[in-house]
This record gives sequence, structure tokens and C-alpha cells, in this order.
Amino acid sequence: MEFFKVLHKYKLARACEINTIHGTIKTPVFMPVGTQATVKLMTPEDMYDMGVDVILGNTYHLFLRPGMDIMKKAGGLHKFMNWKRPILTDSGGFQVFSLSQFRKITPEGVKFKSHIDGAEHFLTPEKVIDIQTDLGSDIMMVLDECPPYPAERKYIEDSLDLTLAWAKRAREYHKSDTSFLFGIIQGGVHKDLREKSMEELFKMDFPGYSIGGVSVGEGKDLINQGVDWCAPFMPENKPRYLMGVGTPEDIWYAVEKGVDMFDCVFPTRIARNGAVYTKEGQISVRNGEYKEDFRPMDPGCGCYACQNYTRAYIRHLFNTHELLGMRLTTLHNIYFMIRLMDNIRKSIFEDRYEKAKEEFFSVYKLRS
Ligand SMILES: [Zn+2]
Repeated sequence: MEFFKVLHKYKLARACEINTIHGTIKTPVFMPVGTQATVKLMTPEDMYDMGVDVILGNTYHLFLRPGMDIMKKAGGLHKFMNWKRPILTDSGGFQVFSLSQFRKITPEGVKFKSHIDGAEHFLTPEKVIDIQTDLGSDIMMVLDECPPYPAERKYIEDSLDLTLAWAKRAREYHKSDTSFLFGIIQGGVHKDLREKSMEELFKMDFPGYSIGGVSVGEGKDLINQGVDWCAPFMPENKPRYLMGVGTPEDIWYAVEKGVDMFDCVFPTRIARNGAVYTKEGQISVRNGEYKEDFRPMDPGCGCYACQNYTRAYIRHLFNTHELLGMRLTTLHNIYFMIRLMDNIRKSIFEDRYEKAKEEFFSVYKLRS
């Protein structure tokens, strides 16, 4: 079984498949995020029904809670959370650098204090592979430093050297036929550093690559610039993953440049605040204007929530803090993202990407 196959190309956009022991992932793919061994408010069955091929798990959070001892006894993350399809895990690096109040980076690894109980931990590129192996991840990420934005160029240069050294160690350490390790392209908003990162990482011959260090507060234009600099130059025969992105508009943009994989907490996070995607753009179902609106959230949507419930009812659930409201909006937003990816994939096979994009945005209005 080949890990990765490009099935069809239309200009730079690709329709591919990724094969793992837990099943096949059709790309371009949107991966819902299951931070704490759950995609909030969803059961695995909800997600199978909607056609979710793969979810993302967070190494940092699971390492701290429930901890690897329990995770090993449970038989790994798939068994623990009863998810039978592929799982991609991040390295935990991003959270170490964004959540932990204390951290010390050395060439060997990174020491940090848990944001939960202050306990000290030390992560190395090797340890991060061991943790993801114990989680039973199908696709794992190398430990990297994700520099904040903005940061001094000198800081990013040094950080990149460290990240490359860590990537090399991780690549040599990872020995498995059943899991696949991705290298992460860093380099901030500097074109030459992104190029250096790619050149060095591609020599290491990872099974896949991701574009990291984007969507860290630099704004849409710079995210797109990062995509422009990297995606078209990444190896043809390997998956390309844009980490932490995105919204429907980000995804349309990046697929056109050749990106295959996306993950983002945004669609599920905004759902819990009552914001839902519709064909016409994002709306907040909590707004007063929907008080007597007995249409579905997104008329024409085939999801369980839209087939059975009205805006007026879901607004009422939010007003009364009833949890079913959040469950219905989450279900709808995941369904929306999965159908969006289906639509995108189909348009690649049919050699009509630009046309499909134009049709989408002729109705879908961006929030100003
Ligand atoms: Zn719906």
C-alpha cells in the first residue's frame, strides 16, 4: 500500500489519497481538532456519518492529561476515545511555546512547566516521537520551535537552525512502517529562511511536509505569502499540510497553490459561540433577527441539525444556555467544512477549480 498517491492535478491543485493502517484520507482534507481526545460535543459516529476521514490530536495536552501512563494502558488514543479512523498528532511544540509560562530551550530539547499544575517536563525530538508512538498516531509531527510573530530576524534564524537540528534527530530516530513523520517548514516571514528550511528538510526525505509558523497572528496577507513561498516548491510526491489554517477563504486560496491538508479549531470554536457558516457567509444564530426565523441554519444543508431544527430554536437554546445548541452548531460547521472539501476535490477532478471558486464566492460573502 502506497502511503501517498496523487490522483489528479489541475494546475497546482491536487486531489490525492493518503493511506494509513486506520484507513484512507482523501485530500484536499479538513481535519477537525480533537484537543482533549474529543472533538468537542461530537461522537465518533457523528463524524463517521458526516464523512470525517481524519482528526487531529494534541500531544501536549494528552501528555499532561491523562498522561502517557493511562494512555498506554488504554491501548493508545484510538482505543481510548473510540475513534477508528486515522489520527494526526502535532508534536506539542506549539503549545509548549504558547501555553507554558516557563520554558527553557537548550540544544537538547525544551524544558517547560505544565500550565495545569506547574510540574516541570522536558521534551526532546526523540521523546516527542515516543509519545506520539504511544498515542498510536498515524501521522506525527517533529518537534519544532514555532517563533512568535513578530520576532527579530536574528531570533528566527537561530530558531530555524535549532528546529532543523531537531528535525534531523527526529528523522533518524523515527523507525516505523505504520506511522509517518512530517517535517515542518519554518522561517517566519522571511523568504530566504523559508527556502533554507525547505532545502535542508527536503534532504532529510520525510514522508510528508507541513508549512508551520503561519496563522500565529500575522494576518491573512502574510499567511498567503507563506503559502506562495512554500507550497508550489514542496515535493510533488508527498503530502503538503498547512498547519492551523483555516477558514473557507484560506482553504480555497491554499489548495489553488497546491496544499493538501488543513486543520483549524476555528469552525468548531465559533460554533460554540453560535456562529455558523452558511452558503451566504458566516452568521450568528444568536442574533435577534432570527428570533422568529423558522428556517434551518443554512437552508439546503443536508446536516442533521439543518434537517431537523430551526434558527429560532437554536437561538433559544443559546439564550437558555442549553448545550444542545452548541452541539447542533458544531455538527453543522463540521458538515459544512467536509462538504466544502468535497466540492473542492470534485472541482479538481473536473478541471474547473477557478470556476468552482468563483461560484462559491458569488454567494458566500466575507465578513468585512
Ligand atoms: Zn447544516
